[in-house]
Amino acid sequence: MTDISTSTAFPVMPLRNTVLFPQQVIPLYIGRERSLKLLRELPSGKKTIVVVAQREGSVENPEVTDLFEVGTTASVMKILDMPDGSQSAIVQGGERVLIKNYSQTDPYFKASIEGIEEIYDADLETDAMSANIRTLFRELSKVADYITQEHISLLSNIQHPARLVDRAVSMMQLSNAEKQDILEETDVTERLKKATVLINREIQRQEIGEKIQTEVQEEISKSQREYFLREQMKAIKKELGEDDQTLEIKELEEKISQAGMPEEALKVANKEIDRLQRIPPSSPEYTVSRTYLDWLVELPWNNETEDRVDIDEALKILDRDHYGLKRVKNRVLEFLSVRKLKMEQSPDAPIKGPILCFQGPPGTGKTSLGKSIADALGREFIRISLGGVRDEAEIRGHRRTYIGALPGRIIQGLKKAKTRNPVFMLDEVDKLGTDFRGDPSSALLEVLDPEQNHSFSDHYLEVTFDLSKVMFIATANWLDPIPGPLRDRMEMIDFPGYIEEEKIHIAKSYLIPKQVTEHALEEEQITFMDTAIGEIIGRYTYEAGVRNLERQIANVCRKVARERAEGNEKPRRITKSSITKLLGPPRRHSEIAERMANYGIVIGLAYTAVGGDILFIEAMKMEGKGGLKLTGKLGEVMKESAQAVYSYIRSNAERFGVDPDFYKKMDIHVHIPAGAVPKDGPSAGITLFTAMISLLTERLVKSNLGMTGEITLRGAVLPIGGIREKVMAANRAGLTTVILPKKNEADLVDLPDRVKKEMEFQFVDKICDVIDLALEPETDEQKKAKKARTKTPKLTEA
Ligand code: ADP
Repeated sequence: MTDISTSTAFPVMPLRNTVLFPQQVIPLYIGRERSLKLLRELPSGKKTIVVVAQREGSVENPEVTDLFEVGTTASVMKILDMPDGSQSAIVQGGERVLIKNYSQTDPYFKASIEGIEEIYDADLETDAMSANIRTLFRELSKVADYITQEHISLLSNIQHPARLVDRAVSMMQLSNAEKQDILEETDVTERLKKATVLINREIQRQEIGEKIQTEVQEEISKSQREYFLREQMKAIKKELGEDDQTLEIKELEEKISQAGMPEEALKVANKEIDRLQRIPPSSPEYTVSRTYLDWLVELPWNNETEDRVDIDEALKILDRDHYGLKRVKNRVLEFLSVRKLKMEQSPDAPIKGPILCFQGPPGTGKTSLGKSIADALGREFIRISLGGVRDEAEIRGHRRTYIGALPGRIIQGLKKAKTRNPVFMLDEVDKLGTDFRGDPSSALLEVLDPEQNHSFSDHYLEVTFDLSKVMFIATANWLDPIPGPLRDRMEMIDFPGYIEEEKIHIAKSYLIPKQVTEHALEEEQITFMDTAIGEIIGRYTYEAGVRNLERQIANVCRKVARERAEGNEKPRRITKSSITKLLGPPRRHSEIAERMANYGIVIGLAYTAVGGDILFIEAMKMEGKGGLKLTGKLGEVMKESAQAVYSYIRSNAERFGVDPDFYKKMDIHVHIPAGAVPKDGPSAGITLFTAMISLLTERLVKSNLGMTGEITLRGAVLPIGGIREKVMAANRAGLTTVILPKKNEADLVDLPDRVKKEMEFQFVDKICDVIDLALEPETDEQKKAKKARTKTPKLTEA
C-alpha cells in the first residue's frame, strides 16, 4: 500500500469519462487548463496524484460537489506534449482513497485523502465467485469483440479476488457510474457479487446487440445484399483499375492490335472503342457498338494461306476426288497455271483472271469440285447460296442504324473462312432475284469485279474490305437467267451430266466407298454388283447428276447396317434383285402406265434443270366456246407454241380426223406439271400437238413413247437441242420409242451404244406424220366418223 499521509494535500485531477482502478495503466488526455497546471506544477521525481471521476462527464469546470468522493491514487509515469498544446499523461492506478478535504480548488484541486480498507475474508464463497468471474469473462469474450485473448490471459495471472474483480471491471465497457460503484465497494465479496451481475448484464447486452444486428441484416433482402456485394466488387475492381467494361475494352484493344487491320479500319475501330468507353454497358447502344467491334476484329484482314502451286499435285487431288470431268479439270488446271505464272511475275499484284462459273444440272459435282480446288490450292473453302436472294442487303449488309443489322453474306463467309483468300463458292447465281429492295446482282458485280473488289464496301462494316485475293467460283443450273453483265464477267464451264457408264464408275469408286464408311460398314461386308447399280440408276433415279444415286446407295447401306445390327452378320452381295427388295418397287414405271391410259396425255422429252427428263403434257376438254387455257409452269415461248398448235389444228381439223366445229363446243386446257421446267420451250411443239390431237380424236397415245421437236406455223418439224440428254432420260424412264425431228438424226452418234441398241428412233419432218406414229390405230368407228366429215381437206402446207 502506497504511503499516504493524511495530512498532505494531494493534487486531485477530475476525469470526465474514466474511472481508474488500482493497477490499471491508462493514458489520460489532458486538455483542461486546471489539469495542465496541475501537471506543470508537479515536482520532479516521484509524482503521485489523485484522480477522481466527475459525476457528470459533460461538466467543463467541475466544482467539488461535481466529483465523486472515492478516487484513486495514480503515479504519473510519463507526460507527453501534444502538437496542439495539450498533454497526455500515462498513469498507473495505485489504491482506492477517500477524498476528504479540498484545500484548494484553484488553479487546480488539492485535497487530503484517506486510504480505504478492504473487507476481505478468503473463503469458499469468494473463491467460487472469482472462479465464476473468470468463466463469465471468457463467455463475454465470445460475444464482445473488445475483450481479446490477451485480456483473458492477463486475468488468469491475477489470484487475489479483489484485484481480479478490479481488473475485470476496468477492462469492460461500462458506464462511469457502474465502474464507480465497483470502485467504492470496499467489501470484496460484495464487489464480486456486483461485478458478477455487471458481467452477466454485459454478456446479455452484447448478445442482444448481436441478435439485433443479425435481424437487421436479415431484413436487408437478398437482392439488396447482392447489390451491395456487386457494388463492392465493382469498387474493388475499380480500385484495381479493372471493372467489366474496362476488361472488355482492354481485350478488344488487344484484339484490334492483333487483327492486322489496314489503316482505315484501324482508325474506325479505335474511334469505336473510344465511343464504347463512354457508353454505359447497360444501354442497348453498348451491345450494338460491341457487336460491331467484334465483327471488325474477327475478320481476316491480313490472314491468308499460302497457295500450293504444284500443278501436278493439284491434278492428283482433282483426280482423287472426281471421276471423269476431263474438260472441267483441264480448264481448272489451265486456270491455276496462269495464276501461278502471274504470281511468279508479280507476287503481290491482284490476279485479274476471269471468274469461273460451273454450269450444269444438280449433282454433277460442281460443289465438290470447288472443294477439291480449294484442297489443291491449300485454301479454305466457303460456300454461300444465292438462291432466292432478292435484297441487295443480303450481299452487302444492312446499315448499322437498322435494328439487328449484320454484314452481308460475303463478309459473313469471309469471317467463317478465317482467311482472306479462300475459294469462295457462290451457289445458284441463276436464282438471284430482283425487287424493290435493290438489285443483288449489281452488288455481286462489284464483288466479282477485279477493278473494284479490292475495296468492297459492306454497308454494315462501313470500312472497305479487300476481296482481291478471294478466288470466286459461281455455280448455276442455267445460264439464261443470269443477268447479262454478270454473265459477261464469268467464264462458263459446262458440267454436262453423266451417262450410265460414268455413273456406275462414280458409284463404285466414290459414292459406295463413301457411304459404306459413313454407315459404319466394312468394305468386305457389302458388295454392290454392277447390275445392281445399273438397276438403281435406270429405275430408281431420273437425273443427270449422281445425287439421288448417292442417296439410294445410302438407303441400301442403311438397310444392310440395320440387318447387321439385328444379328445377320453375313457379308451382303447386292444384286439387281436385292434392289427391289431393299428399296421397294420403283414408282415411276407404274405411274407412266397409269397415266397413259387417258386421252390427251403425251410424254415429252425436255432438257431441264435436272438434265434430261420426261414430262407429261396433258390436254383436257371442257364445255366452252373455243378457248385455250394453259396451266402449269409454262414460259412465254411455250405459251406461244401452244397457241400456234391450237390454231393449226383448228384450220386443219378435218385433215387430222377432228370435228372442225370442236372449238364451238369446248375449251381446251393444256397442263404441264411443275417440277419439270423445260429449258427450250419450242421443243414441246410436237408434244403439244399430239396431246391435242389425242384428245380431240379420242385416240390413246402409245405408252412406251416419248417425243420432242419444234414445229412451224405451217406444220414442219424443226430440229432441237439436247438430244443426248433427252434420249437418255427416255431410256431411264423405260420408254422404248422416241420421235425426233429428222434433222436431229446425226446427233445420235453422241449416245452410248447400249442406248442406241435399246431404243427405237422415229424421225419426222412433217407434223402430220406424227399422228400415226404416236397414236394407237383408229377404231373402225373413228374411221367412219372421219370419212363422214372429210370432203376436201384444206391443208395449208406440211
Ligand atoms: P452439285 O454441286 O453439282 O449439285 P455436288 O458437288 O453436290 O453437285 O455432287 C453431289 C455428290 O456427287 C457429291 O457427293 C459428289 O462428291 C458426287 N460426285 C459428283 N460428281 C462426281 C464425280 N465426277 N466423281 C466423284 N463423285 C462425284
